[in-house]
Amino acid sequence: MESLRTTGKASPADVRAVNRRLLLQHISKGRGRISRADLVRLAGLNTATVSGLVAELLEQGLVREVGVGPSVGGKPPILLDLDERLFAVLGVQLIRDGFRIAALSLHGRIIEQHFEVGDGALMLDALVPAVRKMAEGLGRTVLAVGVAVPGIVDHRGVIARSVLLGRDDFDLGGWLGEQLGYPVHLINDSDACALAEVALDEDPAPTLLALYLGDGVGAGLILSGALFQGESFGAGEVGHLNLRTHQLTCECGRTGCLEAAARISVLTGRHQSLQLTPRGEEPQGHLDDAAAERAGRNIAALLELVYELIDVRRTVICGPVCALGSGLLDHIRQALTDYEPYLGGHLTVDYSRLGWNGTLLGAAASAAHQELGLLWSMIDT
Ligand SMILES: [Zn+2]
Repeated sequence: MESLRTTGKASPADVRAVNRRLLLQHISKGRGRISRADLVRLAGLNTATVSGLVAELLEQGLVREVGVGPSVGGKPPILLDLDERLFAVLGVQLIRDGFRIAALSLHGRIIEQHFEVGDGALMLDALVPAVRKMAEGLGRTVLAVGVAVPGIVDHRGVIARSVLLGRDDFDLGGWLGEQLGYPVHLINDSDACALAEVALDEDPAPTLLALYLGDGVGAGLILSGALFQGESFGAGEVGHLNLRTHQLTCECGRTGCLEAAARISVLTGRHQSLQLTPRGEEPQGHLDDAAAERAGRNIAALLELVYELIDVRRTVICGPVCALGSGLLDHIRQALTDYEPYLGGHLTVDYSRLGWNGTLLGAAASAAHQELGLLWSMIDT
């Protein structure tokens, strides 16, 4: 999170790094329709600074010249775009009984994917060789790895708590970074999903709740375009909230938790938590209608609470549940039909347009942003 405190003087190298990120942001958003003159105007930098930094980005292979734009009197401007050929950013999603890995180009296009299902206790040991193998097979330099984890990721980028991984205060990013030799950035899985959803949005400052339904249940909260993580990074930890709509026993030992009604194994009636087929493409199983109806009522109660508390009226459901048909969505909407908000208006609930891939893409997008300053639009992934 950006600090608002004074942190001392900026060195010329700091200023250069900030300006470089800024140019990469504009070039990634410009998608091949941006010139050096546009960069001078958009970034508010002088011509010499832009020329020097663009020359450096061209030499490094991060940016390339892609053609000429229309002349506005003088020489037609040379257009710039990210060079998608040499580098990749990896996204990883950890789930209870496996992981998913995707390699993405600098514009956020998926180049390759890999899934593995196995014993949860051995998952991290299997992850390292799988990431290495993918990186070697790409024939590209990996610039960063983003890992979406089911748990609270704190200001240090450390997993403060994860019931699903059975770990507290665990520096997974540090450990993975040492093993792999790449910069690794961790992000909570629901937050990753929320960021990916925002990248699809035309609205520059959207407000939404992304509710992740998988082995666990959690929410990512975007308020006026910014990810809100709370005072101790626990915002959106709604899985064990008791809204008094049912009496099911939860894995945490208590009764009535949202997760006890809405996690994927309950919705599909499968005792196993397995979310992936052996080939890893889609979640297994079918939605159990009675379970979906009960979860729908519980989720509707949560959305009413969120609306009355912080005035968020748009919800996007993400995670493997999106691959199980519209049954749950119908039940949530049904449960909301009699709701008459004190604030007026109405609530909208939809499945993520990125479906089951939102978390994976969001993890990679977050790493690309933190490492390079890139801003992806997920529209054409
Ligand atoms: Zn619980």
